Amino acid sequence: NILGDNVSEMRSGESTLRIGLVLPDVMGTYGDGGNALVLRQRALMRGIDAQIIAITLDDPVPESLDVYTLGGAEDYAQRLATRHLSRYPGLQRAAERGAPVLAICAAIQVLGHWYETSAGERVEGISMLDLTTSPQATRSIGELATRPVLDGLTQPLTGFENHRGGSTLGPDAAPLARVEHGTGNGVGDGTEGAVQGSVISTYMHGPALARNPELADLLLARATGVDSLAPLDLPEVTQLRRERLAAARR
Ligand code: GLN
Repeated sequence: NILGDNVSEMRSGESTLRIGLVLPDVMGTYGDGGNALVLRQRALMRGIDAQIIAITLDDPVPESLDVYTLGGAEDYAQRLATRHLSRYPGLQRAAERGAPVLAICAAIQVLGHWYETSAGERVEGISMLDLTTSPQATRSIGELATRPVLDGLTQPLTGFENHRGGSTLGPDAAPLARVEHGTGNGVGDGTEGAVQGSVISTYMHGPALARNPELADLLLARATGVDSLAPLDLPEVTQLRRERLAAARR
């Protein structure tokens, strides 16, 4: 298949894995741009050439990249991002052809059907995810630890959450994980994140991929068209995970 051919080209340096960092100018408040850095680094460590392409409010969203990441944002910035993504539907088209998309926090809300801001305004989303989001009584801030339910993930997930919105999944979206500590989607069903087609979304900052290498490699494997990638032995990442999971469980 085409993706399979791409990975051998990438390995021989003839082609480059193109990682789209979507709207870091408005969805970069929480350091989630680190997810693109982690993808690039883990690709390079395996001899796969990789490059980050930042798409700002000045750019149309290209549909041809290999993998996309979107970060969290405050309410106003989130609205600007929503408008841009509806006007330039490159992300929607990329997901339709199966390109992996990682959407963090505000982005889970933007990719849904609609979200209500903390001021009570309802904003139409881009409907890539079958979910809606409404503000909850209190803001959820703190360490989050979950058990993944997505096929291909076996390790607990760790992240830092900071959101007021709570997301209710419809039948076409499946949860990413079940909450063990923290809030997650925050509507009382114990779920965290949403998965639909090639989109994986979560409330986990951290950045999420720095804390969860298994999730990073799942996205990389899908982006390069291989079944799985041999794990990398990085003691510092193991140590970070141990500390963060312990902090969530305290
Ligand atoms: N503004 C959204 C909320 O509070 C998302 C926040 C975020 O991305 N951290 O729910």
